[in-house]
Amino acid sequence: MRKYWGLFLACMLLSSCGEEKSTASIADEDVDVQESIPERNIEKYGLNLSDFIVVEDTIRRGDIFGDLMTRNKVDYPKIYELTQRFKDTFDVRRIRVGNPYTILKSRDTSEVAQLFIYENDAINYTVVDFRDTVLAYKGRKKVKLVQREASGVIPKGGSLSDVIVKQNIDYLMVNELSGIYAWTIDFFKLDAGDKFRIIYEEKYINDSIYAGAGEVKAAYFEHRGEPFYAFAYHNDSLDIKEYYDQEANNLRRTFLRAPLKFGRLSSRYNLKRKIRYYGYKVRPHKGTDYAAPIGTPILATADGVVTESTRRGGNGKYVKIRHNGTYSTQYLHMKAQKVRRGEYVKQGDVIGWIGMTGNTGGPHVCYRFWKNGRQVDPLREKLPAAEPLAEILRPAYYEYMDPVKTQLDCIDFPEEQAEELLTLN
Ligand SMILES: [Zn+2]
Repeated sequence: MRKYWGLFLACMLLSSCGEEKSTASIADEDVDVQESIPERNIEKYGLNLSDFIVVEDTIRRGDIFGDLMTRNKVDYPKIYELTQRFKDTFDVRRIRVGNPYTILKSRDTSEVAQLFIYENDAINYTVVDFRDTVLAYKGRKKVKLVQREASGVIPKGGSLSDVIVKQNIDYLMVNELSGIYAWTIDFFKLDAGDKFRIIYEEKYINDSIYAGAGEVKAAYFEHRGEPFYAFAYHNDSLDIKEYYDQEANNLRRTFLRAPLKFGRLSSRYNLKRKIRYYGYKVRPHKGTDYAAPIGTPILATADGVVTESTRRGGNGKYVKIRHNGTYSTQYLHMKAQKVRRGEYVKQGDVIGWIGMTGNTGGPHVCYRFWKNGRQVDPLREKLPAAEPLAEILRPAYYEYMDPVKTQLDCIDFPEEQAEELLTLN
């Protein structure tokens, strides 16, 4: 990967936003990808298939590995040996209906199965070798990572996922983006005209078969005119990958913006709320409500210790977490709790599920944010940020980031959406 970025840097220095649009740039994972495969020397799974009679099929309902092998003339003792010695590598009871497999038979009249290859998923496979002593090992297809650039503009009444689908971007990016910006942007409240650019990887097997999205290298999200940059960077001193902005600040905060991944902000913290039901008397709402279907996971917004997990009156089933001497959070109306008092939870852990217990008109979580024993509005709190990148690591970070930022800034927004945007302004 390093090699590739170096190359890119050189290109970027020569040309700013591009006369010629840079074509998808390619970097190889694992070993080199063979450019052209000679017809009579078909290599697959690290084996030369031309040495065998090749039978390709998929696991069908009712298939039993042992039967499949005895049908292909493998001696029972060998099958037994496999199940005993290689259970960890290949558990014959866990073959799944629909997964492809290949049987390689000897090229003589006996047609005895010599190897069996099971595809665990699009990338990973397991080889069972019956030729001499029985052997089983795992393999991984060569994956080519193709870098892709994409962008989008949130239309009026539209959501991020609508745009992701419309722009033909891997749906996983909805999750990735909301994860990267979970601490800074409220994805429950995106505005029409908010826009984004991303540089991410797509995985391809044998140059052509799409095998899913890889990591987001960089992202730009413009929310209400405010730019938010995110660059994936491996922090060598902590040995973790984190997202930092253009000033090397960590995008992570000690609290998530909301206790749900998706849902709708249905009622904000409001000390002057008047409710018709109560004759328009002031009934302060000290929580922030997020509506979502029953059963939606509720997440701990920060690390901490569960101080309460109980059911009480109008609160229904709820969980309260103490994060430190200053902050606690509370989550009401759960269908059920997933954690017990005294348990330590990490940020993003599922602590319960959306329900309707206690006083509530519909399924939602009432999220209460306590600061020094008082309930405050989490959406107005300046939440503490995680440590920025250490001073000593910054020069290398900036050197890495600058060309990526330029590349990001050069991605055009989709035309038709840009026009919609003009009419909005
Ligand atoms: Zn509430």
